[in-house]
Amino acid sequence: MRTRSFASFGVTAAAFWLGAAAPALQAQQPTAEDDPVAALVSRLTLDKYKTTLKGLTQFGDRRQGTRRNRDAVDWIEAQLQAFGCTNTERIVYTFPPPPPPDAAPRGTPPRRGAGRRPAPNEGDLTTATGGRVGRRGPGSGGSTLFGYRGSTGVNRDLMAQPDERIRELNREEPVDGERSEVYCTKVGTTRPDEMYIIGAHMDGHGVNEAVNDDGSGTALVMELARVFSAPDVETERSIRFVLWNNEETGLNGARAYVAQRQELQGVEDPPGSGRYPEPRWVGMVQHDMMLWDHGAPGPDGLVSRNQRPEADVNVEFQSNSERADDSMRLAFLFKAANERYATDYPAAVGPHMTNTDSTPFMDIVPSISLRENERGAQVGAGWDPNWHQPTDVWTTYTDDDFRLGLNAGQTTLAAIAQLTGAGIDN
Ligand SMILES: [Zn+2]
Repeated sequence: MRTRSFASFGVTAAAFWLGAAAPALQAQQPTAEDDPVAALVSRLTLDKYKTTLKGLTQFGDRRQGTRRNRDAVDWIEAQLQAFGCTNTERIVYTFPPPPPPDAAPRGTPPRRGAGRRPAPNEGDLTTATGGRVGRRGPGSGGSTLFGYRGSTGVNRDLMAQPDERIRELNREEPVDGERSEVYCTKVGTTRPDEMYIIGAHMDGHGVNEAVNDDGSGTALVMELARVFSAPDVETERSIRFVLWNNEETGLNGARAYVAQRQELQGVEDPPGSGRYPEPRWVGMVQHDMMLWDHGAPGPDGLVSRNQRPEADVNVEFQSNSERADDSMRLAFLFKAANERYATDYPAAVGPHMTNTDSTPFMDIVPSISLRENERGAQVGAGWDPNWHQPTDVWTTYTDDDFRLGLNAGQTTLAAIAQLTGAGIDN
């Protein structure tokens, strides 16, 4: 039975969530002995995070529609089960998605520009050339940018990958058809019908190992599944750990989840069983590109090889979403959790969550994303020169980079432990 609980921390979190005064910051970091949240956070280690992330690199860029992508989904499922998150399930869907019922029949010439939806990472910044300085108005991310810009885009040239082993891993091209993505669930003890969704996308592209985009988020979510699934950990509310597929083609895996599961929320099945196949969504937290915060490009368009001293975890909500106010509160709760529990890096809150798997949720449920940089302004302006490039490989990153991802994991773990009323049996 539970002998220590997070009840007092849960009350603090709930008060903050409801808009009461923010909890006073403690001068000292809490210790694992007197604070179960700290005890859980201490179970995340840099070594374990790196081991899980390295495991993902054996499947190259895990591009959707290929054998290496399917093998990676199978491997992730096996890992989740080995970590104790044994109730794995899959969402199955087809890509490309079928046209909506009111779409024009095949063969009808499309109207100019009609129905074109930009790919998630295809913003209005992708044609930027290196070293350009200037100001631009609000774009898809709603940001206004000052400063130099680096080039961005997707590299699909197999021969641009200098490492022969990685090149061979990525040789197969995608084919249309069935796709799947995997999730597992920590079932809550007293509120099993309420659930936080914790996600990252396992697919990548760019003839690389997709280490940062988004092995870094995928490993983080898998590590949180490990910590919360330990036999001595209980949570009052449920938590679902989801590894999205087809993010890079237009958030198709997350869109399929919403399309298939939204209506099932909160339904007890069978009635009277206390089981909820789809608990009611109370928050969605996405993790996408966690490692690289090396500052802005210089006048030559190049970015430093060293992490900048101001490196931080960016927690973003979407200011024009229907749940913007609640999402902002959730983001600041994460910032407070970071200040109290993260070991190395601070967190900053921003209003431009965009172009990732939390987008399909943002008008339905409070939604945030955690990232290495501000998505709308900094990532879009070329702050991460490895984004979708052959350099997104294991050897590009140092422990300073990996530790930034670990700190994002500490932040989400601490916040979600408080929000779900986590406790440790002993
Ligand atoms: Zn990504």
